Amino acid sequence: MTINADALKSEETEVRKIAERTLREVTVKIGLERINTQEGITMEALLDSGATGLVMSSEFTKKQGFKLKKLERPMQVRNVDRTFNKEGLIENMVEVNIYYQGHRERTEIDVIREQKWKVILGMPWLAYHNPEINWRTGEVKMTRCPEECGKQWRPV
Ligand SMILES: [Zn+2]
Repeated sequence: MTINADALKSEETEVRKIAERTLREVTVKIGLERINTQEGITMEALLDSGATGLVMSSEFTKKQGFKLKKLERPMQVRNVDRTFNKEGLIENMVEVNIYYQGHRERTEIDVIREQKWKVILGMPWLAYHNPEINWRTGEVKMTRCPEECGKQWRPV
């Protein structure tokens, strides 16, 4: 049997083109409320299954005047594959209420040096709420939340 290498190659290119076209970042418009003053803002957060926590950029916390809470023990940021992340140590977090599609949850967000995104909701949030995500259109539906959703929780 002979394989037409050219045909294979063009098929591969086609697949890659489709992948690039459909590759998108899925974001959600959330409300963030400070626990101490109950002031709220609306902002766009990135949903990222590659992130191992809930994180906020230190620049954003400064700009918004979020009150930082020092962690008792600084944590080393790890990537999903358990390697150490270039962001270095997490030393602070902020306590917030997150509002999204009728949900309200009190949680803690780790502060990191990440610059591109102000807030990233990572794997713990995704696994807990288990939203239906349409990766082509970016539509997010909160249809599979656990019963205890909305109560205070801290991702582990
Ligand atoms: Zn939920």
